[in-house]
Amino acid sequence: MPVDKKCMKCKELVKLPRECRNCGKKKFYNRIPYEWGLTTDDLIGLFCEQCGKGRKYFECKKCGCENPAEHFKWFFEQISV
Ligand SMILES: [Zn+2]
Ligand SMILES: [Zn+2]
Repeated sequence: MPVDKKCMKCKELVKLPRECRNCGKKKFYNRIPYEWGLTTDDLIGLFCEQCGKGRKYFECKKCGCENPAEHFKWFFEQISV
């Protein structure tokens, strides 16, 4: 399950979208409508559960850094201090 994470660059919280930009898919309880998958160029991406539209990067609203989808894996949260 992807989670909101701090920006790699400026440490501002980057919130994953709660709604798919492409088809408008939403889930209950503030959950994220994306699943893990591989993009055509073999990068980890997050894909909409409904329309399958994938995203590789999520932009930080503060500094504009494009945080790769892989950055939002929960297990990185577990090992970071
Ligand atoms: Zn969608
Ligand atoms: Zn940032």
